Amino acid sequence: MTTRAKTESPATSINGLRSLNGSVVVQNFIAGTWVDVSSNSTLPVMNPSFGTEIARVPLSNAAEVDKAVSAATFAFPGWSSMPVKERVQIFYRYKSLLENNIDDLTALVSRENGKIASEARAEIEKAVEATEFACSLPQLIPGEILEVSRGVECRVDRVPLGVVVSITPFNFPSMVPHWTIPNALALGNTMILKPSPSVPLSSLRIAELLQEAGLPKGVFNIVHGGQEAVEALCDHPGVEAITFVGSTAVARLVYIRATSRLKRALCLGGAKNHIIVMPDAHEEMSATNIAASMSGCAGQRCMAASAMIAVGSSDHIIKRLCDEARKIVPGQNLGAVISKEAKNRIERFITEAEQQGATILVDGRGVKVPGKEQGFYVGPTVIDNVLPAMSVAREEVFGPVLAILRARDVDEAIAIQHNSPYGNAASVFTQDGGIARYVSEKASAGMIGVNIGVPVPREPFSFGGWNESKFGVGDITGKSSIEFFTKLKKTTVKWNSESKNNWMS
Ligand code: NAD
Repeated sequence: MTTRAKTESPATSINGLRSLNGSVVVQNFIAGTWVDVSSNSTLPVMNPSFGTEIARVPLSNAAEVDKAVSAATFAFPGWSSMPVKERVQIFYRYKSLLENNIDDLTALVSRENGKIASEARAEIEKAVEATEFACSLPQLIPGEILEVSRGVECRVDRVPLGVVVSITPFNFPSMVPHWTIPNALALGNTMILKPSPSVPLSSLRIAELLQEAGLPKGVFNIVHGGQEAVEALCDHPGVEAITFVGSTAVARLVYIRATSRLKRALCLGGAKNHIIVMPDAHEEMSATNIAASMSGCAGQRCMAASAMIAVGSSDHIIKRLCDEARKIVPGQNLGAVISKEAKNRIERFITEAEQQGATILVDGRGVKVPGKEQGFYVGPTVIDNVLPAMSVAREEVFGPVLAILRARDVDEAIAIQHNSPYGNAASVFTQDGGIARYVSEKASAGMIGVNIGVPVPREPFSFGGWNESKFGVGDITGKSSIEFFTKLKKTTVKWNSESKNNWMS
């Protein structure tokens, strides 16, 4: 637990906060009501840009989880029996509310996560886009019907699962919750969100706006906390399905725990994304894209370029890339990382690589932003001559750090990519269509980019990696989420005046 710093009031006047012993403490949201958490055990919510405490988040226990599951269970029959076309009307209104409140929502994301305003705004825009997709669900989920024998019809309907849980990470306080909330609810489920304790404030506004849009009480609930709350959610017999987004270590634990309790689970984990750069790649486009990919959201993106594999003589591109990286200024076009611990960890990766013989071309260690001296900033960092065995090449750094590995040819580059246990994204920069296709086919990752540094598929396409970047079947967003958040009901009907049966009727 970090030491207590000056408590600022959170960005906007939001509900779901109470005063306790001079601190601002976050509340759970259950059955449409803000509820105090009984435990006195709290963690600080920091403003990473200034290194100051802005609130405290309580750690809910199994009894508090049980209250949320009861509320969601109670709300399920009414909500799930509402026609989908009626349910999505709420999300049309919610989408407008997100748009109308975008300035406040942006400020809140920036404040609790440390990202710069344009990135925080883009996150809310992605939340709007995810909501827009949910509004289109009635068009995507008509059932099927066929006369399978004389007078006999088979009909297939998609029906909601029941109470579903969404467990989310710190790096996208608004976007990642919106990967699941609009689709899961529009499809007729009720939900419990367990946000990251580092960034609980955005979720309070989500609850408020959903309520303002007309969502019935109990359909959406929030339980704050950490491991204890997550384990109670995995164990609760009233929960049908769990989605998780976070680190691979925890994704694995949650997947095993939830599925061993016979729940449906989809757990997205960490990443180490490789960008293969061929010597013929467009110099300016490659350099600007890769610099933006490795430093956007301070490198705290599961889609960030983290390792670049320079094939053959790509020195001209590396030089240009360093020029671009030097234009990225902490506190201006580069946000803070989430915590002091994260800053120290990222800087340790850089120092270790240096000690192991790598070349630091651009060094982001030890930066101080004037006026934000206590902020958790790491400058853009480019490290050349990294070897595959070094920790900076193997592990997820989650900071604005690019490790450059060298390869003689494209097959050696692909072999390096294959050696990673992760498989979220992989990109190739080239002007040769044949090479682009070859890498797209061979790379072992769920999301592939050709001349794109952050190859995030947009709805209706779905988001999800491979290998240890995801445990479970299917993807979390887009059309694939329909499979996850519904089950099939098959009804066979005979309205046949003929009394004679045959073996098929
Ligand atoms: P995290 O794994 O520490 O936390 C994620 C969630 O799990 C939080 O809600 C947290 O409270 C909970 N949690 C933490 N430890 C737990 C434990 N021992 N048992 C049960 N629950 C626990 O992740 P983070 O640091 O918040 O987020 C960063 C990570 O998320 C990175 O690894 C990043 O790559 C990953 N991420 C992945 C994707 C993706 O789509 N694959 C997207 C965003 C972030």
